[in-house]
Amino acid sequence: MTTKSAAAAARATVYGYPRQGRNRELKKAVEGYWKGRVTADALRATAAELRRTNWLRLADAGIDEVPTGDFSYYDHVLDTTVMVGAIPERHRAAAANDALDGYFAMARGTQEVAPLEMTKWFDTNYHYLVPELGPDTVFTADSAKQVGELKEALALGLTARPVLVGPVTYLLLAKPAPGVPADFEPLTLLDRLLPVYAEVLVDLRAAGAEWVQLDEPALVQDRTAAELNAAERAYRDLGGLADRPKLLVASYFDRLGEALPMLAKAPVDGLALDFTERAAANLDALASVGGLPGKRLVAGVVNGRNVWVNDLAASLSTLGTLLGLADRVDVSASCSLLHVPLDTAAERDIEPQILRWLAFAEQKTAEVVTLTRGLARGTDAIAADLAANRADLASRTRSPVTRDPAVRARASAVAETDGRRSPSYAERAAAQRAHLGLPLLPTTTIGSFPQTGDLRAARADLRAGRIDTADYEERIKAEIQEVISFQEKTGIDVLVHGEPERNDMVQYFAERLTGYLATQHGWVQSYGTRYVRPPILAGDISRPEPMTVRWTSYAQSLTEKPVKGMLTGPVTMLAWSFVRDDQPLGDTARQVALALRDEVNDLEAAGTSVIQVDEPALRETLPLRGADRAGYLDWATEAFRLTTSGVRPDTQIHTHMCYAEFGDIVQAIDDLDADVISLEAARSHMQVARELAAHGYPREAGPGVWDIHSPRVPGAEEMAALLRDGLKAIPAERLWVNPDCGLKTRAWPETRASLEHLVTAARTIRDEL
Ligand code: GLN
Ligand code: ZN
Repeated sequence: MTTKSAAAAARATVYGYPRQGRNRELKKAVEGYWKGRVTADALRATAAELRRTNWLRLADAGIDEVPTGDFSYYDHVLDTTVMVGAIPERHRAAAANDALDGYFAMARGTQEVAPLEMTKWFDTNYHYLVPELGPDTVFTADSAKQVGELKEALALGLTARPVLVGPVTYLLLAKPAPGVPADFEPLTLLDRLLPVYAEVLVDLRAAGAEWVQLDEPALVQDRTAAELNAAERAYRDLGGLADRPKLLVASYFDRLGEALPMLAKAPVDGLALDFTERAAANLDALASVGGLPGKRLVAGVVNGRNVWVNDLAASLSTLGTLLGLADRVDVSASCSLLHVPLDTAAERDIEPQILRWLAFAEQKTAEVVTLTRGLARGTDAIAADLAANRADLASRTRSPVTRDPAVRARASAVAETDGRRSPSYAERAAAQRAHLGLPLLPTTTIGSFPQTGDLRAARADLRAGRIDTADYEERIKAEIQEVISFQEKTGIDVLVHGEPERNDMVQYFAERLTGYLATQHGWVQSYGTRYVRPPILAGDISRPEPMTVRWTSYAQSLTEKPVKGMLTGPVTMLAWSFVRDDQPLGDTARQVALALRDEVNDLEAAGTSVIQVDEPALRETLPLRGADRAGYLDWATEAFRLTTSGVRPDTQIHTHMCYAEFGDIVQAIDDLDADVISLEAARSHMQVARELAAHGYPREAGPGVWDIHSPRVPGAEEMAALLRDGLKAIPAERLWVNPDCGLKTRAWPETRASLEHLVTAARTIRDEL
């Protein structure tokens, strides 16, 4: 190990790049193809052009080794499924007929066949398609996409490194195929899968790959000894292959933990590790195994999933430490840049000074290159960059945007008791019963009603100046009138105003809170061709004025029935935004919670006696490592209680979450101290009700009886049957009747019919009691 030559040889690289193109060309081409307006050839040509543009851009910026194979028409895990030939039985015919149509059939389903299930890629907001495997799965290698894209990059004269989802992560992310027993473990297929990976690796070597990267982010999660053994076996096998390329095993999103010593000893040629804050333990762990003598280390020092400028001096110092630990140290972003927007330069509405605090994919690439130069040639070579970076970081620290004394004073004065409601739940429940006078099995909805094309057009018209605010508000009021009168007519007990004024449940509030930034072009891929523009939580959070009170009060003025106030909770406000990296998440959550607390209190003061605070993101933000979970749940539940604990005992606090599997956070849900919770349950036949009961959950609950994810209208008897099931777990005094989730994606006809059936079902069961 010679530190000096390791430094001089340092190279810049990244693992992946935003796919969609500067003007979201990929989205347009893929959706055009689906509609038959774009031919397959035209789609392929657009994709090839996007790849070429990205590679050349990376190379121009100074990236020495570009990634290939990270591009995808839809999702890179689905691409891996194709690569290993694990196409589900039901999609075989389509795939055999036309590979591209078969691919999209797996992604989106067709009239005849259901798509693969989609779920979150670790704790990011990117969704992948879950491989479906079983004891009968036969893997076959299809290296065409990987080889083809490598050749494209090589033809441009670039040094290129194919990036693949590693075999262990692929299997750990898979689930048993339909019809396969639920306890089937896809990892048992490893021995069958490895020869297929071997074949792909040999093909890539033959096509000119010196290095191939195998991504194993699943190894940053808690893994059993058996899983770690499987990973060890996988890399012993692949490492022992003849005619193989050099292997770089990459991990990101957290620390490797017990997998680090195993991978350090494995017969592979390099490791790519995350050295950003949440994975900081990798540094000591690497030192304690004696580094990676004889191996290449790719150091992910630029955070690939936040939007903030790097602290270049701090990263250089990390890189300096790493120099003593490997034969060769290269510099990268911590993970694929897929998770961040493309370019800050496209933003015109953000103050120039604040824009300098931000780094999107292009800026992060430049940071990687600068750091590589600093590592190779010494800090003098990048003195100007370091000085500018120091100034930007200082301006961020000193800015009144990030340091609002009033917000800080209030947050630090919060006492534990501020987040506690008194009296106890049981006494509150009695007070609420008296105050609200609801029937048994009260009916309600989750908040939103259909977001019609009309509403979206009105919003677009307002933005474009075709209508003024007064016109727009008339439209919203008309919508609220319709929603209220429909609910009254249908006989729903606790009404909602329908959320017609909200474009999105996080963005709406972000636009009304000080401290949040909105981007014009900050698109990131959520899944397939769906891109979102998460707001950026940049500064201290305050609420200049009430955000929802007007609409809720207006709705309440139209009816004698209680109208439920509707807010997005603090954890979800963080989870679906880019968050600050300059203070603990819990501190940010507390600021948001205090702002929302004012809104809750104002709603109550305006006469709202039921207030719902949605926390659909509570579970998905759970840290990847079990050891970190208690700390997270502490601040997350505290933030919810701080939001909701300023109200009178007879004001009823609801919360809502949209998932059916939550066994591991029932205690946390109890700790929210909400009076009523609504959850997704229709598809799992009220499983959540049984889980709540098993936990001894003492509060009221509304396990959903209508799966709102499809246009299907469930019959009243079907919902009544679900309610009878629910009653076996939750007594009638504590059972609510509601859909699984909000209705914004539904159309009016099925909404009307389904809600009428829902009320009929509730009445039927009340009569049976
Ligand atoms: N109140 C929101 C709605 O009804 C909740 C959405 C959600 O749970 N994701 O749309
Ligand atoms: Zn929901």
